[in-house]
This record gives sequence, C-alpha cells and structure tokens, in this order.
Amino acid sequence: MGILTLIMLFCVLKTPVIEPLIKTVQENLSTVPDVLNFLGWETWKSDEFFQSLDRVSLLAIVPNRNILMNPQNFKRSCFSELLSRQKLERDNILNGLSEYQIKKACIYVARIRAFLDAIAWAETGSIGEASYTVIVFKGGNKIKNFSTHPFVGGGWKANQNCAFIRRAGKRVCSSASGRYQIMDFNYRSLTKNGIIRDFTPASQDKAAIYYLQQKGVLKDIAFGNFEKAACKVGGHWASFPCNNYRQPQKKVQQLRYIFDRQVVKYTIGFDETFQELKQNYIASSVRSRSSRAFSKPVPDRVTILTQSFQKFHEGIDLAGSLGTPIRAITDGKVVYSGWDHWGLGNVVKIRHRDRGETVYAHNRKLFVTAGERVSRGQIVAEMGSTGNSTGSHLHFEYRLPSGRKMASGEPEMQAVNPCDRLFSCPAIGDRF
Ligand SMILES: [Zn+2]
Repeated sequence: MGILTLIMLFCVLKTPVIEPLIKTVQENLSTVPDVLNFLGWETWKSDEFFQSLDRVSLLAIVPNRNILMNPQNFKRSCFSELLSRQKLERDNILNGLSEYQIKKACIYVARIRAFLDAIAWAETGSIGEASYTVIVFKGGNKIKNFSTHPFVGGGWKANQNCAFIRRAGKRVCSSASGRYQIMDFNYRSLTKNGIIRDFTPASQDKAAIYYLQQKGVLKDIAFGNFEKAACKVGGHWASFPCNNYRQPQKKVQQLRYIFDRQVVKYTIGFDETFQELKQNYIASSVRSRSSRAFSKPVPDRVTILTQSFQKFHEGIDLAGSLGTPIRAITDGKVVYSGWDHWGLGNVVKIRHRDRGETVYAHNRKLFVTAGERVSRGQIVAEMGSTGNSTGSHLHFEYRLPSGRKMASGEPEMQAVNPCDRLFSCPAIGDRF
C-alpha cells in the first residue's frame, strides 16, 4: 500500500476487500476450475490459447513452494516444477504438456514475478531479499520476526509510526510493512480469511498475488500488458499510476523498465535450461520406469502380440491359450467385473493409485468383484474369447484421466498406449 494513502485508503479498504475466499489459495488446487477461480481467469475458458494449456501449466502460476525464487533459480524451479508434476502424476494429462506449453507457462510465471518485483521497487525502493523486511515508517527498522505483521499482535501501534511526506507536507502514519507495504488491517483480513498465516516472505508474495487477482490483472500481466495492469493496481498501490491519492507516483515508464529488466533476468537462457532439465527428466524417468511397479498382465513369453494400439483399437491384443492366467499389473481396486455390452465380453477394470485404469477383456472366467482390492500380480481372470472376439486372447487397455470431465462429473478417461507407458512390446506376431 502506498506511502501516503492511509486515511483515504482505509475507507476504501474497509469495504470488504476480501471476498469469501476461495479456499483454493491454500494450494489444494486440483482441478482446472479451481485454478481458474483462484486466478480469476474464467474468461480464458473461451480463449484459444488457454485451451491449449492444461491445469499443470496453470498450477505453476499459483504460489507454491517455489514462491521465493530469485531469477537465477527461477527457470530451473519453474521447469522442474512442471516436469516433476508431470512425473508425479505419471502419464496423466500431463503427457500432453508440450515443451511449448511448459515454456509458455514459465514465461507467464516470470512475468507475474517480475510484476511483483516492480511493486516492491515502487513501494520499498528495493527488490532483493531485504525488501521483505522493510518498515517504511519505522525509521529504518527492519522486520526481524516474520511470524506476524509487525503492527499486529503486540507490535508497534500504527499511529506511532509516522513520517512527514515532502510533497504532501503532512504527517502521515502507516502500518505499511514488508515488500508490498501491507497494512495491519489488511493483514488481519488476510489471515482471518485464511489467505496467509504469517508474514513470511512467501506469505507476503501470496498476499500480493491475491490482490493482483482481486484487481483482475493476472491475465494482463501474464500476457505482458504491463501498462494496463499497472493502471488497474493503482488503486491498491499508491506508488502506481492511475489513482488520485496525491502521493508520489512512479512513472509508468520507470515501472515498465523494472518489469522488463526482471522478465529478462527470469527468462534469459530459457531454452538451454529447459533442454538440460528435460534430459535429466527423461533419464530419471527411464530409470524409474524400469524399476516401476508394473508387471505384465500375462506370463512372460506365452502370448503373442497380435494387435497393437492404434486408432479404433485402443489397447493391445495378446493371444494365448484358453485359461491363461490374467494378472493385475499393479496394485489397485476393482471398479468393474462382469459383462460388457460393448464387446469386451467378461471384463475386469482396475483403478490404480496413479489414477490410471487397466482393462482386461474377453475373459473366460473372472476371479474378482467390484470394490475388491487387488495387488500386483494377483490373478484376476482367465483368458477367454468372450464378447467381440474371434479367438482366445487378452485385450488389454491402459487409461488415464484426460483432464476433462464427463457430464456426470467423473473424470474422462483416455486410453494410452501401454507399450509406451508400462512395458516394452515386441513387434506384431512376436512373443510378448
Ligand atoms: Zn483388442
């Protein structure tokens, strides 16, 4: 909050600045709508570019554990955050997250961070770590304890911290503290509404991002519309343009200069960093794949791969003799065991921890029932030729959430090639 505005602003801000807050700020953003609500980006829903992003790209923009990033670490953190989410959620929707999308998302985050830096510069005159400790009206005193706002909970009283402001020529008092010059009463609202719990640098950043969101400027910033965003936040940070608090304002060109300079710092060498991390990621992903907890659904080398994964055949066919044991490829819970009217015959569907689902079709016998927990390697069925089948074989599918929801609200599942994800497959006609 700007230096001089207090009295005026107090009146403005007493009106509920903080609407009942979207609990999603607490990092449990698990769906695209959650993230969109948090970011105030509903309007993006119809945006062509937005549609090419998925929730993970968006998640990276939300404050997370990497919130305190200096430019040197930024690229690495942003990319590895996205890549590790990709890894964590295994081949979930993330699979579709292209290099382009990851870079784009990280550029968005870089711009938002650079905007925070511009606010810090305008409000405190610094953008480094020390900016988080600034108490403007306390004559050079610094925040030493981040457990709460310095004017809250037995701290100094706001009215004892006053200064003459040259231009206004008056004595002005303020509790404005920290990197974004947050007032004590704003801090109280923020904590009361569960947006932040303390005054640590990460919380200060979070609060600032919250105000940006409230002002509806995150999208402007992400798209690089600096002047527009700077004007829109002028009502909150008096050092920014487009307000009539009659405080010393920074010129928009000055702010833009800081913003641009920081964006460059955050994004310089983007490609090199990305390529390096990608190589590491691929290497570690290959390692973890080989030690992964997936086994084959059929005994080794007793079946023949007769059909591969392709359009209109979203699984693989493994031909073997009637009664060949069919095993769960990893631990999970049976979500369906019974007859399938779409041609799969006697089918078992198992949901796994990675939220993926495996499908074992055309069985002669089923040994499990819906709701049952199964462990890796457990026999769930016997090979058969039921349903739309011309000979004894297992039709095996691996499905992952596509990231979209069905009308029922259930996540939509999308078949992926198990030969890419679970185990290596031979050529058609060869033993599996
Ligand atoms: Zn098949």
